[in-house]
Amino acid sequence: MRYSMDLHYVSTRDYLNRVTASQAILQGLASDGGLYVPDQLPQFDFSPEDLIGKTYQEVAYEVMRHFLTDFTEEELKSCIALAYDSKFDTEEIAPMTYAQGAYYLELFHGKTIAFKDMALSILPHLMLTSARKNGVDREIVILTATSGDTGKAAMAGFEDVKGTRIIVFYPKDGVSAIQERQMLTQTGDNTHVVGIHGNFDQAQSGVKRMFNDPVLNEKIREKGFQFSSANSINIGRLVPQIVYYVYAYVKLLENGKIGAKEKINVVVPTGNFGNILAAYYAKRAGLPIAKLICASNENRVLYDFFSTGTYNKNRPFQVTNSPSMDILISSNLERLIYEIAGESDIVNAGLMDSLARKGIYEITDQMRQKLGDFYGNYADEDQTEEAIREIYQTCGYVIDTHTAVAASVYGKYKAETADETKTVIASTASPYKFLHAVMTAIDPKYANVEDFDLIGPLSEISGCPVPRAVSDIVAAPIRHDTVCEPEQMDQVVCSFLGL
Ligand SMILES: *Cc1c(COP(=O)(O)O)cnc(C)c1O
Repeated sequence: MRYSMDLHYVSTRDYLNRVTASQAILQGLASDGGLYVPDQLPQFDFSPEDLIGKTYQEVAYEVMRHFLTDFTEEELKSCIALAYDSKFDTEEIAPMTYAQGAYYLELFHGKTIAFKDMALSILPHLMLTSARKNGVDREIVILTATSGDTGKAAMAGFEDVKGTRIIVFYPKDGVSAIQERQMLTQTGDNTHVVGIHGNFDQAQSGVKRMFNDPVLNEKIREKGFQFSSANSINIGRLVPQIVYYVYAYVKLLENGKIGAKEKINVVVPTGNFGNILAAYYAKRAGLPIAKLICASNENRVLYDFFSTGTYNKNRPFQVTNSPSMDILISSNLERLIYEIAGESDIVNAGLMDSLARKGIYEITDQMRQKLGDFYGNYADEDQTEEAIREIYQTCGYVIDTHTAVAASVYGKYKAETADETKTVIASTASPYKFLHAVMTAIDPKYANVEDFDLIGPLSEISGCPVPRAVSDIVAAPIRHDTVCEPEQMDQVVCSFLGL
């Protein structure tokens, strides 16, 4: 069964730029610089009670068919089956743990033990299906710049997927030891990793330059290739993230933790605003969510935005112990701005132009009134560590630094509002991924111990087995050694493609 056959995606900067879901997935970003959004937000044709007893894969199908309406049932089910399989270390895919008054939705049971796996394990299959549907027979070359997490998760997703290649650029001196080891040991004949002598911004600019270089694009097309992006603004990443909020709700119902139609709150540690936007879409589609609690670290642009109505990126960039949220431009916020501007491409484009030119924009009071679903706050470094220590001491549960930002912000929210609504906290990374920060927060005696030597102690105190993602890389051979200057990125790509 298909739902709304004629759902299309339009650019947030030009309403006339209108494509199908599969075309939006292939393109990633709209050519006018905008982001693709559904031209009308779908309404779920089921109620959560109907999904009781269903597997993650079954729930994924029920949710995703509402958004990817040009995929057939067979296509979508096949993508889902290929993505959510034994790559995950639990059949539940996204299990929940109750601790200290909240349900932690663990989104880190995939290959790279961070929540990016939830979407990046299905994106390659959605992309290949999209290529087939649109008559694209060229090999798809994914170009990605990463500050650590995305690149590894994207490679793990695209590894040995026929008809694709992936090239990841990372700042040679800008990632953690574990992150670098994870990338350099990446297997798969179609994966390439390149360290650049530069920072993340230079890697990002280099990738954007290649996407927009007509000569290079023509050259690779002649050889049967075409570029695409696995960036978090792709709706092929956003839509799979809606699934786990529905799944979590259904599991709470199934286990008698909430009653039918009872509203829940959701807390999301936020960087690029992708994960929390997925929760917002779930709410808009009919999932009973009350508050969407947006948790930031010291890069608190979003907190300031929710409390003042002004988005201002003109401030120092803070390096924190939750690095995957160290971001001053939350790209996916543009989709929310478009919504609250009454789906006005003109208003949105004006604000984004102001952001690009001056680094700041201010929304109207009328737009602010539409943000009532959101609550924003932030946690500094000490508060983040305190949250890790406290939940460990009271419940024996170990959470990572990103999740701890959410836990801390949830504490502030409860203190302010005394709201007792049942709450789900998105747990976005395994504590094994940020070993040093986590262990030092629990006990300062670990401060001088190397990351790799903390694997055993964490396993001991948490009682959680060491994930394959960690044990595998300890002894795995290094398979990538390319390093280049930022100006040489194009040449490196050409040489990988045999041009
Ligand atoms: C990417 C990431 C986030 C931020 O998610 P957004 O969708 O960018 O808001 C939070 N935690 C971890 C561990 C991440 O890797």
